[in-house]
Amino acid sequence: MDQGFIPVTEAIYKLIQEFNKLPGIGPKSAQRLTYHLLRTPEEQSKLLAEAILSIKQKTKLCSVCFNVTESDPCRICSNDQRDHSQICVVEQPQDILALEHTRIFNGLYHVLHGAISPTEGIGTNDIKIKELMEHLQDGSITEVILATNPNLEGEATATYLNRLISPLGIRVTRLARGLPFGTELEYADDVTLTRAIEGRQEF
Ligand SMILES: [Zn+2]
Repeated sequence: MDQGFIPVTEAIYKLIQEFNKLPGIGPKSAQRLTYHLLRTPEEQSKLLAEAILSIKQKTKLCSVCFNVTESDPCRICSNDQRDHSQICVVEQPQDILALEHTRIFNGLYHVLHGAISPTEGIGTNDIKIKELMEHLQDGSITEVILATNPNLEGEATATYLNRLISPLGIRVTRLARGLPFGTELEYADDVTLTRAIEGRQEF
């Protein structure tokens, strides 16, 4: 038997490889998705391909909060109904989705796009800390809520930010305990997140 033989065409093999690169998709799931698409009408595959392309082509980062947006400033930053004196600092755009889902927070956000992680070589200049500090310069912000993930990297980032922001005379708070250590904000349920925001404490 030819040991180098892979019983799929190059096109199929290529798509399996691409799916396999996605988070949470192992080789088995990658195969399942590929063969599923092979069976679906071409029109549907086209819609999927276009949707994948358009998230890169049609979105950008808000120049104020660095959330993903189609308009700049984003709909949150440009909304007069929101409290422009509070900023909630999160690691990733999807954390905003989780927090907005609770409807408990009505201020603004700032997305760091990561957390400080010496082990992964992510330093203070690799995430959007400078941009946050620039936003705080205009004097309109009275409270910064640090909503980084409750894990080592998130804690290190929050501690670092507190040291930078506190001397500016701005109130710095952090989410209440209750989110299990090691979890990520985006996976927290609404009740836990609501309690975490309502019960936020001085850093
Ligand atoms: Zn924005």
